[in-house]
Amino acid sequence: MIMQLIDTHCHIYTREFDSDRDNMIGRATEAGVGQMLMPAIDSDEHENMLRLQEQYPGICLAMMGVHPCSIKEDFKKELEIAKTWFQKQSFIAVGEIGLDFHWDLTFKEQQYQAFHEQIGWALQYDIPIVIHSREATDECIAVVKEHQKGKLKGVFHCFGGTLEQARQIMDLGFYLGIGGVLTFKKSGLDAVMKELDLSKVILETDAPYLAPVPFRGKRNECSYIKYVAQKLADIKEMDVDEVAAITSANATNLFAL
Ligand SMILES: [Zn+2]
Repeated sequence: MIMQLIDTHCHIYTREFDSDRDNMIGRATEAGVGQMLMPAIDSDEHENMLRLQEQYPGICLAMMGVHPCSIKEDFKKELEIAKTWFQKQSFIAVGEIGLDFHWDLTFKEQQYQAFHEQIGWALQYDIPIVIHSREATDECIAVVKEHQKGKLKGVFHCFGGTLEQARQIMDLGFYLGIGGVLTFKKSGLDAVMKELDLSKVILETDAPYLAPVPFRGKRNECSYIKYVAQKLADIKEMDVDEVAAITSANATNLFAL
């Protein structure tokens, strides 16, 4: 029996997969990846994402939202477009949303504004949020804290923070999305994960980005999630099937799959 895995974060509708998308999804299915959850980026990609969801019903599942790196001068228009999609159909989550202070701080205030507004949608529709928090983990934790009155749920995708931050996130009832970074030497994430139980951990690839070792630097794809599961199993000194079972059950629970 092959282990059952869920890739909770992959951008498989982007042009990086135009040449072999169906084969790539086939490889993922063969590797035991039963579901691939797709975070939105912005209106340039929404249609591509929704087309893939239609093509693979129950397997490729779409979120809706505006990525913090797509919050620019026209962010109000972007928010309006995403909001309109929510009125037309249902989505498994609001995502990916959050704060990214790595590249550009020009639209910092607008990023906050968009983050707050989109959290409101998640509460309205009672679905989780998928948080992108590059160089802004403490800031994102603070925003979640502000809105957490017991109803907000979600995940800090691509978590790479400290043990203290991980504990704060778990205390807020949120999950940690763990991906290829776990396999990188010197990430320090192995030491953090060693200390935590897996009750709030879900797995992701972030494909096409952040491929795990031994594919680091190459295009990432959903089937590679097994390397993340194996690395986590090694760190926790657990059976990889058990890691797969626990993290998949967590994802099923969080996203109501
Ligand atoms: Zn992403």
